[in-house]
Amino acid sequence: MKKIEEYVTSIPDFPEPGIIFRDITSVIGDPDGLKLAIDSLDDLLEGIDYDVVAGAESRGFIFGTPLAYKNGKGFALVRKKGKLPRETIEASYDLEYGSATIEMHKDAIKPGQKVVLVDDLIATGGTMEAAARLVEELGGKVVKIIFLIELAGLKGREKLAKYDVASVICYD
Ligand code: IMP
Repeated sequence: MKKIEEYVTSIPDFPEPGIIFRDITSVIGDPDGLKLAIDSLDDLLEGIDYDVVAGAESRGFIFGTPLAYKNGKGFALVRKKGKLPRETIEASYDLEYGSATIEMHKDAIKPGQKVVLVDDLIATGGTMEAAARLVEELGGKVVKIIFLIELAGLKGREKLAKYDVASVICYD
């Protein structure tokens, strides 16, 4: 059986020189790759008690929703500012140049709910740190944060030090 690493396509110098972009479209485009990715993420949740899965636009949706479905949970969307139609709360985080803002519907998480956060990849950890802040502002408890891919060299885990973080595969 192939490993996740063998389904990931690594693209040098994208989106800028010196960056190696880890492309997961070749993982999810393959039926075995998609299954392996979802099942491997699911394995990271063994023994975790949770009520809802939340994921950040857009690749967090791809992995988070099947995970929620597989486990009989609901899925909560974390979206870029201006996309959600009802009352929202927002959180901002720093990018290399400037900042970004993400939002959740105010009723996406009920107070006291135990939440698993999912994304395809952790780089600096900024996106997930902001998503965790949103969940907490809504009264949820972040019980686990999982990624398919971790770029360890960017030390994103340090930004998420107070959470239980796990990833399926890791690049230096
Ligand atoms: P962070 O907020 O710096 O941790 O960046 C993580 C976000 O950027 C995730 O939502 C990823 O989808 C995206 N991202 C950053 N680098 C890559 C990459 O090499 N491949 C795919 N997505 C990436």
